[in-house]
Amino acid sequence: MAEIAYNIKTNRTFNFIRRWAWLITVIVALGGQFWPYLGLVVPLIILALLITSFLKGRYWCGNFCPHGSLYDQIILPISRNDKIPEILKSKPFVALAFIFFGFNMGRRFLAVFQQTEGLLARTGFIFSNTYLMVLVVGGLLGVIFSPRSWCQFCPMGTMQLFSYKLGKTFGITSTTDQLITAESPDLCHSCANCSRVCPMQLEPHKSFQENNNQFENEKCIRCNTCVENCPSGILQLATPTEADSIEEAADLTGFEKSRYYQAKISKIKEFANPDIKEFTFSLLEPNSMEFIPGQFMLVKVDDQREMFKAYTISGSDAAKNQVSVTIKKIEDGYGTNLIFDNFQEGQRVTLKGPMGRELAIDKSQEKMLFLANGIGITPFTSIVENLFARPGVRLKAAGGTNIEARKIEENYNGEATLLYGARYEEDLIYDDFFATIAQENNNFAYDRVLSRPRGDDYKQGYVTHILEELEVDPETVVYICGSRPMAQDAIEILENKGVPKEQINYEDFGV
Ligand SMILES: Cc1cc2nc3c(=O)[nH]c(=O)nc-3n(C[C@H](O)[C@H](O)[C@H](O)COP(=O)(O)OP(=O)(O)OC[C@H]3O[C@@H](n4cnc5c(N)ncnc54)[C@H](O)[C@@H]3O)c2cc1C
Ligand code: SF4
Ligand code: SF4
Repeated sequence: MAEIAYNIKTNRTFNFIRRWAWLITVIVALGGQFWPYLGLVVPLIILALLITSFLKGRYWCGNFCPHGSLYDQIILPISRNDKIPEILKSKPFVALAFIFFGFNMGRRFLAVFQQTEGLLARTGFIFSNTYLMVLVVGGLLGVIFSPRSWCQFCPMGTMQLFSYKLGKTFGITSTTDQLITAESPDLCHSCANCSRVCPMQLEPHKSFQENNNQFENEKCIRCNTCVENCPSGILQLATPTEADSIEEAADLTGFEKSRYYQAKISKIKEFANPDIKEFTFSLLEPNSMEFIPGQFMLVKVDDQREMFKAYTISGSDAAKNQVSVTIKKIEDGYGTNLIFDNFQEGQRVTLKGPMGRELAIDKSQEKMLFLANGIGITPFTSIVENLFARPGVRLKAAGGTNIEARKIEENYNGEATLLYGARYEEDLIYDDFFATIAQENNNFAYDRVLSRPRGDDYKQGYVTHILEELEVDPETVVYICGSRPMAQDAIEILENKGVPKEQINYEDFGV
């Protein structure tokens, strides 16, 4: 497969200092060559980082460091953002860099202190020269490898580590040091986004997989990038003393039954659009998954990186020992490219599920409205099947899944409407299935629309256009899945129609 980037370039500067502190680096490093006194700001910086690290580990590096700001703000856009070589992270290299740096600085200071004249200017010059060296070497490494390559062995980082260990020994850090904390490991999708955006290329997701709700790693610079980019919104910075109460308060509804499964890919179904495929898994151990329609599961896509991807369960057989997901390939998507290139019938995979509560339908509702666009249609296949399907209907209508439609014990007697928007005709998946169910059930209405139809068979527009024209009872419970702009517009239209926000449920796929 074409090389798809694992590490994600994303905004890492969330406050004024991190956005602009790089100017200090440039002023001290370059300005100091002409007015060396500028270098005297560096000892103050060293003092400040020693104090913060005593209390909060390498917090300085991720929040105040002028070089860090330069790497994240200026170097990141031009960096290859590739893997940092292991050697730069290795203990011997870190020790060597520290000794070399200490020896070199010591030697230069000795030379300065042997003469009394111009002591301050000479001292400032040493510091500003050092700042310049870090700018040049760190900047080059940042462009060639990854912006924070220098930070792996930075002698200031090593000094902070010593100071941090001291703070830990005195028992200070348990109330001052904030670590990356997951609300609960059970809510984690194992999607590795936290690791893919991490400037230090750490792997918090593996720690959550081991059931820890705090990520303890002395190299963590507490930069908040993973917090800002976790699609599940379950991360925060918290002290070790706060971590337990955070986990206790976590709402695990919809996640309680989740567990790992060994499975085999039993069928891969293709659609008119080659970028969409339905994968059916036979569950081996354990051999059935009790899920509520609308829930999702995790599919392991990368063994080495322990990376999973979340996919809605789009169908199952009667005994629930086969489950299927329908996946859209994203052009530069890491996981979907692995799936489309490597997944083959007969192959073993690890799954985890079921999970999720947003679209887990409540059958006691008398009126339901489902809104989907793009690949956001997937939850509604199993939802509609569960509410209305007659045995075999999906097999016949969807023409090709190997999953036999389930016999439902109890028909749904309320009313449900599905509005579905896609771009082109070939993107409209499971259309025959929904249309057949609508024909056979007076209490199910189905309408769809294309934003760029190639022919005249379908109406042109967005799903929100048909929503605008629809009469909606304010008692209706709404389930939305699709793009963020569609969901935002739909929620506004629904609120204008009198549907309270509490009755509107939205699942964000993040794509
Ligand atoms: C609950 C749930 C259910 C889902 N159900 C389905 C489903 O049924 N079918 C389906 O096809 N998909 C579904 N998804 C989406 C799916 O989990 C994957 O996100 C999707 O398949 C893309 O994965 P990827 O690894 O190919 O893309 P990625 O590599 O993760 O991302 C694609 C692109 O976005 C960029 N990007 C990603 N994150 C960031 C970021 N933080 N900042 C900047 N750029 C970023 C990447 O660089 C890349 O260019 C679901 C998601 C969730 C959360
Ligand atoms: S980014 Fe993904 S792997 Fe990391 S904590 Fe959030 S859900 Fe879990
Ligand atoms: S784990 Fe999170 S807070 Fe720590 S360095 Fe990585 S992205 Fe920053």
